[in-house]
Amino acid sequence: MTDSTIRYEKDADGIVTLVLDDPAQSANTMNEGFIVSLGEVVDRLTTERDTIAGVVVTSAKKTFFAGGDLNDILKSHAGQAEAVMANVDRIKEPLRRLETLGRPVVAAIGGAALGGGLEIALATHHRIALNAAGVQIGLPEVTLGLLPGGGGVVRTVRLLGVVPALTQVLLQGQRHTAEKAHGLGLIDELVDDVDHLVPAAKKWIADNPDAVQPWDVKGYRIPGGTPASPALAANLPAFPANLRKQLKGAPYPAPIAIMSAAVEGALVDFDTAQKIENRYFAGLATGQISKNMIRAFFFDLQKANSLVKQYGGAGRAPVGTVAVLGAGMMGAAIAYVCAESGMNVVLKDVSPAAAEKGKAYSKTLLDKAVAKGRTSPEKAESILARILPTDRPEDTAGAQLVIEAVFEDPAVKNTVFAEIDGFIAPDALLCSNTSTLPITLLGENVSRTEDFIGLHFFSPVDKMPLVEIIKGGKTSDEALGRALAVVRQIGKTPIVVNDSRGFFTSRVIGTFTNEGIAMLGEGVSPVSIEQAASQAGYPAPVLALMDELTLTLPRKIREETKAAVLAEGKTWEPHPADAVVDRMIDEFGRKGRSTGAGFYEYADGKRIGLWSGLETFRRDGAHTEIPFEDIKERMLFIEAVETVRCLEEGVLESTTDANVGSILGIGYPGWTGGVSRYIDQYPGGIQGFVSRAQLLAARYGDRFLPPQLLLDKAATGGTFEE
Ligand code: NAD
Repeated sequence: MTDSTIRYEKDADGIVTLVLDDPAQSANTMNEGFIVSLGEVVDRLTTERDTIAGVVVTSAKKTFFAGGDLNDILKSHAGQAEAVMANVDRIKEPLRRLETLGRPVVAAIGGAALGGGLEIALATHHRIALNAAGVQIGLPEVTLGLLPGGGGVVRTVRLLGVVPALTQVLLQGQRHTAEKAHGLGLIDELVDDVDHLVPAAKKWIADNPDAVQPWDVKGYRIPGGTPASPALAANLPAFPANLRKQLKGAPYPAPIAIMSAAVEGALVDFDTAQKIENRYFAGLATGQISKNMIRAFFFDLQKANSLVKQYGGAGRAPVGTVAVLGAGMMGAAIAYVCAESGMNVVLKDVSPAAAEKGKAYSKTLLDKAVAKGRTSPEKAESILARILPTDRPEDTAGAQLVIEAVFEDPAVKNTVFAEIDGFIAPDALLCSNTSTLPITLLGENVSRTEDFIGLHFFSPVDKMPLVEIIKGGKTSDEALGRALAVVRQIGKTPIVVNDSRGFFTSRVIGTFTNEGIAMLGEGVSPVSIEQAASQAGYPAPVLALMDELTLTLPRKIREETKAAVLAEGKTWEPHPADAVVDRMIDEFGRKGRSTGAGFYEYADGKRIGLWSGLETFRRDGAHTEIPFEDIKERMLFIEAVETVRCLEEGVLESTTDANVGSILGIGYPGWTGGVSRYIDQYPGGIQGFVSRAQLLAARYGDRFLPPQLLLDKAATGGTFEE
């Protein structure tokens, strides 16, 4: 079969190995070619059944199978649900014929089996996986606003039971290690050597000639019972409420659809359950939110990660040694991610004790990873051994990369760069992790301004996937390419922005926190503010987030910005949030979580509830009752308007950077697909957004006035989609 994406290889014992190997792509996906090939090979297996002892399904690619074709989903629109259901049936039908062939079928999984890959494996009778890093197992469709429509809901529910399938696999889309997946029951057998995979599969076939799916055996019961059985039925009413609590009212349709498909499907026979799964899948696939999430979390990420090619940074030799200056909260965490990616790290602080303390942070993270089975003790030890804590500038000898993370003070930053200048490699890339100081100004004081660039990490560094790269006025393209390569080397996603106070991310998140605080000052109920932020889909309610960041931070930034603005001879406009922040700090002595008191009360470091003293603001405010929709949209709009200003001023050069940066860096709600898509898709399109922004400006202040770029797009009927 030419052009088949599945090779059909039969051995002397009558065992057929189906090798998933799309000749046109580096990864196997559920594209048209695969669907046709799957139908064909299953037809052939059926015809040759009498001469077949069993079937092994394996892959010739690095990943076992990459999943569904997301381009198809972007093309399916409302009204096309029937066509979508018919299309998933073209996958479900041959998979069902494979598992009911009457011959043992085994999946031999040597690479990641996520989404469609695991769905194929679930349609076999025995799953063997290579126990190695990179072999991730799971159904992450929910993270793209979808559900596994290739039988993934139906089979995980039947295999594991309703509750484990929902909580361990479907609702959060966890990517499990092979070992964890084995523990859960998704994988039946592990091997340590890739060369043992297919032989192990063949052995299982020889030992189990009569294998069938457990759910095809008469009398099979779903583990934990069906929703009709008393034990599960008693808990069932709490499911939707718990889910709503987890989602905090944010508009994500996929988890609700998944829960419905799982529960309804568990009450009926296999084929009906598949139809139910189809219906919910089609509802999600033809909706807007899955498209937003696919664009943002898949295509935009791909584009951002390929910036390294665009700027000539791909293919560079990896950095061998990095000097991290400052072993505080950020420096310690940056040292960890660098060491984890294979760099040798010289971690420098003012004293050996301070540097050691920074290294201890890595030990804590690694100990946790070992305890959870995410890494081996040997690997943890070798990562830790790569970090050299020191206070001696000469230890940075030969470093090809410098990442500075000392106090946010230009004088201190200048000093540390000067200290190491004579020791590091003569062409070392010089990076600062400043969150607010203009890169162009800082660059004036280093010896090689063209090699100086901003590398803005987010806390907690080991978890946050974004790095904002800031080009200074004199940064060379070569330095940018190198910085992009560094970001990719440590496995993060970059955005590239031009210099501006607060760059893109700090500037935009500042408008969000200020808006929440301003509403408090107007007398809006703090409970409503927090609830509105959650319902809008923000990962943390706005006042809680401000407590985490500490209230002294916006005041410091405000004072610095004010001084700079006045120095330029411009006028300074205070923000309505300023007075609230000042009162919180000066009158009430509440600076945020790190001091144990902020907008919230804390006990043993845990947030226990909003501080009752916030009533003062409610009493003194003028806008105590504003529409709940306004509270939500004031936050979503002010960030969107500020982002458009960043585009207009050239701080941002692309809307992809805007969308990736807004979601990954500062928690703009993922369902929107990013800040520019929120504007594009606002009811009435950009014109609708402009009218609403003007209304918000009239009610709450000129800061909502739409910038010219928005007015122009509204006038010409344009959009931000690139
Ligand atoms: P921190 O106060 O926790 O750490 C600063 C460290 O620098 C301290 O350990 C200090 O001893 C050390 N240091 C001071 N002078 C030094 C010198 N001469 N040589 C070596 N080390 C020296 O601060 P942080 O929160 O880690 O922030 C560091 C930088 O990262 C700042 O520029 C900050 O704006 C930026 N940043 C912070 C965050 C955040 O969430 N905290 C996020 C992004 C960027």
